[in-house]
Order: sequence, then C-alpha cells, then structure tokens
Amino acid sequence: MTAKLFSPATDEAVRECSEIIKSGGNVVFPTETVYGLGANALDPKAVDGIFKAKGRPSDNPLIVHLAYPEDAEKYAYTNEKYYALAKAFMPGPLTVILKKREIIPDNVTCGLDTVGLRVPSNPIAHRLIELSGVPIAAPSANKSGRPSPTEYAHVVEDMGSDAGAILDGGESEIGVESTVIRLTDGGVEILRPGRVSPEDLENAGFKVTVNKGVTHPVANDEKVASPGMKYRHYAPKAKVVILDGERTKVIERMKAEYKNGCGILCFEEDAEEFGKTNVQTFGRERDAVSQAKRLFDSLRAFDGSDVKIIYSRMPDSNGVGLAVTNRLLRAAGFAVEKI
Ligand code: AMP
Ligand code: MG
Repeated sequence: MTAKLFSPATDEAVRECSEIIKSGGNVVFPTETVYGLGANALDPKAVDGIFKAKGRPSDNPLIVHLAYPEDAEKYAYTNEKYYALAKAFMPGPLTVILKKREIIPDNVTCGLDTVGLRVPSNPIAHRLIELSGVPIAAPSANKSGRPSPTEYAHVVEDMGSDAGAILDGGESEIGVESTVIRLTDGGVEILRPGRVSPEDLENAGFKVTVNKGVTHPVANDEKVASPGMKYRHYAPKAKVVILDGERTKVIERMKAEYKNGCGILCFEEDAEEFGKTNVQTFGRERDAVSQAKRLFDSLRAFDGSDVKIIYSRMPDSNGVGLAVTNRLLRAAGFAVEKI
C-alpha cells in the first residue's frame, strides 16, 4: 500500500489531496457516478501517470472534470447547445464532447481534436477541483478492464498500490459512469449511456440518437465514435453469459446451471429461487436506477469465489436501463443467449 488513505474525506483531507494534484500526483476521489482517478489535466506528465496506474490503453481518452460549466470556455469551443445542456444537467452525470482548445495536452484526448467535459455534483469532487485550481482529468479508478469502483473498498483494492492518495466518499450514488454525448446537427448522440437517459435528454428538448456501439460489438478495425467502445470492460474474472427471455424459463435454466456450480446474477426478487452462495443480485427487476447502483459491486463480488461462469438476467433497456444493459453486455463481451 503506497497510497495515502483518507477515510473519511474531511475538508482537511481534500485540501491535502488538492496539493497532491497541484504537484503533479494523482488522487482517487468519489463522484456521484463512480470513483475517479484524477490528475491535473493541463500537465501531460501527471496525465501519463493515470494511464500507467490504471494500465489503460493509450488510445482511450480521458474525461476532463470542471468545477463550473462556464470553465469549459478555457478548454474547448462551446456553443448555445452546450449551455442549454449545462442548464438542464450540470452539475451532474453528463459528459459533453466538444472541440478542444490547444491548452488541453494531446495525451488527455489521445490525439483527438475533441475533449469530453463534465461538471460533477459530488461535493467532495467539486471541492477537490476547486481547491486544485486546475481541470482534473479522470477515468474510473479501476484497473483497466475491471468493473468500475463504486465503493471505497474497491478503490483500495485496485489503486492502493498505484495512486498518490485515496479519498473515501462512501458508496457511489449512481453506480454507473456518466452519459457521454456528442453534439449533432439536429440534437445529440449518446456514445455511452448513463443516469441521464435518452428520455431525460428528450424531455429537455434535445433530439436524441443512440450510437450503434452502445448495444452492439464493434469490429477491431471499425472506426468508432468513442475509443472506449473497442475494449472489453467491466469484466469480473469469470465469464459472464446473459440469458434473455421470459422470466420463468430463464430462472429454470439458471437453476440447472446453479446446480452445476455456476454463479447467478439476478434481481432481488429472484434470489429466493437459489441458495446463498455464488448468488449476487443487482437491484429490483423494474427499477433500473437500483440496478445501476448495484451492478458493478455485484460483478466484483464474484471475484472472491471460484465460479468459472456467471449466468445473468437481461435487464430492460428502457431509460436508465440502457446504461445497465450496456455495462452488462460489455462485461459479458456481448455473450447473450436467447431462451
Ligand atoms: P472513463 O474515463 O473510464 O469514464 O471512460 C471515458 C469514456 O469517454 C471512454 O469510453 C472514452 O472513450 C470516452 N471519451 C472520452 N473522451 C472522448 C472524446 N473526445 N471523444 C469520444 N469519446 C471520448
Ligand atoms: Mg472506465
């Protein structure tokens, strides 16, 4: 363990961490979505430290976190639509891709001429950015490929030996990463779904399209809108297979697999169908918000067992369910069995 641990994250702790950021180090901090691993976005060396600590592919760009929506002026070319989005959703779990200004180093955006900007609402995140006095580049604070961290224990496990410091902010409120959008001629395009759902964006007056890569695998040589779409993500050590079909049939199949020693990832209402070991739940069947909050923790929980295959129920993909479905499909490497 080399990271300085701050549990709980007192104001004094946040102040100390802002000094680490200013001096080029990196800090794990809580946000309302998942924990982030942050560094000064204007310092290429500090940014490089993030890629190293995570083992992140060098072509997967980082989101830049700001204290206030109008700070975007300094780092990107904004427009009316950006401010309309900011008015409706910032601070909050929305990342907007804009054309970047020169000041953002190339390794933040991995050579792209655009940058993703977000204004987190979590008070610890906000305070850290404000005290640091710089924009903070931060991906999720997991080792690359693993489920994103939603609890202090997750980040101590993944980043305890690699981060400069860790701030304990308790359990993440939302549990899946921000909604990433880019601006299109007629409206916005979702590149990664999150707590801000297509319906939320439509209700705020934006025409919404969803990129195909959200629910379909992309080929290795395919040009993708968001580099993150290319990589296997969120994966526990065991293989994940999603069973898609009517509840009774899926449960019947799961029971048979459970007898064979497989892991079960189901909704809370289903748990009584199985025993206590090798069974994890992710929220209630008709409550996507509760599923988003629980999914990553449940995937991680299987790593403590010896199961080789996990059978999961398929969530509904409406509203916030699109984010849950997207994360689970990626965790499963798109292995879906229709029943
Ligand atoms: P993470 O940092 O783990 O939350 O992942 C950030 C996600 O945002 C990844 O899927 C990135 O590929 C995506 N992203 C960040 N910057 C850009 C950008 N400029 N254009 C497209 N996607 C981006
Ligand atoms: Mg991530």
